[in-house]
Amino acid sequence: MSLLNQIRDAGIIGAGGAGFPTHVKLNTKADYIIMNGAECEPLLRVDQQLLESYPDEILRGFEMVARLVEAKDAVIGIKGKHREVIALLQKRIAELGFSDYIRVGILPDMYPAGDEQVLVYELTGRIVPETGIPIDVGCVVCNVETVLNIYKASCGKPVTEKYITLAGDIPDRMTVRVPIGTSIIDVLKLSGIENFESYAVIDGGPMMGPILTDMKGCITKKNKGFIILRRDHPLIRKKSCSIDNARRVNRAVCEQCRMCTDLCPRFLLGHNMQPHKLMRIANYMMDDHSGEAMSLLCCQCNLCEYYSCPAGLHPRLNNLAFRTKVNARGERYQSENRQYEVRAAREFRKIPSKRLTARLGLTEFDQQAPLNDRLMKTDRVRIMLGQCVGAPCEPIVSVGETVTAGQMIGRIQEGKLGAPIHASIDGKVVNITEEYIEIGGE
Ligand code: SF4
Ligand code: SF4
Repeated sequence: MSLLNQIRDAGIIGAGGAGFPTHVKLNTKADYIIMNGAECEPLLRVDQQLLESYPDEILRGFEMVARLVEAKDAVIGIKGKHREVIALLQKRIAELGFSDYIRVGILPDMYPAGDEQVLVYELTGRIVPETGIPIDVGCVVCNVETVLNIYKASCGKPVTEKYITLAGDIPDRMTVRVPIGTSIIDVLKLSGIENFESYAVIDGGPMMGPILTDMKGCITKKNKGFIILRRDHPLIRKKSCSIDNARRVNRAVCEQCRMCTDLCPRFLLGHNMQPHKLMRIANYMMDDHSGEAMSLLCCQCNLCEYYSCPAGLHPRLNNLAFRTKVNARGERYQSENRQYEVRAAREFRKIPSKRLTARLGLTEFDQQAPLNDRLMKTDRVRIMLGQCVGAPCEPIVSVGETVTAGQMIGRIQEGKLGAPIHASIDGKVVNITEEYIEIGGE
């Protein structure tokens, strides 16, 4: 079976959070393939830990996938501060005989170094066009855990487990390996907290992750980590702001200083993303529909909202409100067909991760979260039918049927975009709904 079909049958999707089916993304040819080991969200650890624990598997998976897309250059993007991981990778690259093909690309310790477009520019010097994706400039970007999953797929092992970092204001910080479908609350309790009444949980990194609204949910292939903070932490208060509230505050206070624009990573890449202009359109109720489409250029990195704005306003939420309106009108951003050039000041406007962590009020929680590689035990899982970009899976098992871990239980709908799902524990199918397949362990 071809590697692409192995990847498809293993149900691999982008493990970095985007959740795009990997077999579709890799069905292309590229000049560069980049492994995204930037991990620029404060407190998250999993990519470095995987590189440290499974360097050979990840390097072999990366070499396979680089050959698959016929890349001329295979680069591992990693921040220079991870000296030990870099030394390990360089040693293993040499010992595995990949030195003439795979190299380590050093990234600055800035946010958002892991944004695909920033990553592509830092490692190749190419600028992804406005509203574009890396393949538009001959680049394919893969997350570290995705590459590990590709290696496992080549050995016939589908995606049945997920690495999750637990961090924040908790007694026990750690990265755990859990079966997909495990109850989120059971995973959260590994943090040493039993009662979450006075806590809020961020699903993902502190910059881009939303507040988790349903702790009764279950782990999917897209989860990466949970940041647990007290409800009165300033970051939680900021994340809890509604679009209506944001609009009221923005209107009263925005002084048009344009710091949000001057530090915006997409603006600095030469794109026309100018959040201060969108604030002006909203605050003065200007009827500027052409300007509103600029909101489609925002990558929602939240830098303007949590770092740049000296008045603590909500330019990102303002972008989001415009994006919703523009999408509802079915409009597209009309990009000028031009050569992009990074802004002259970009080099001096990179935001150091340490300063960002301090601004978020997270410095005291920026500590080790050791990897516990023993698979968490659970006797019940709910495997969601829709875990990726595309259509939900079609169940291929029935209630009462005995299944084994790794068995395919849901397939891609005919002619649709998607990725299959697999049982993550041995057991019996006890329930099938429109949303999930539930398996009870034996
Ligand atoms: S940084 Fe804040 S105050 Fe300045 S223009 Fe942007 S939103 Fe307005
Ligand atoms: S969230 Fe703000 S800083 Fe980030 S891309 Fe959008 S406008 Fe720029």
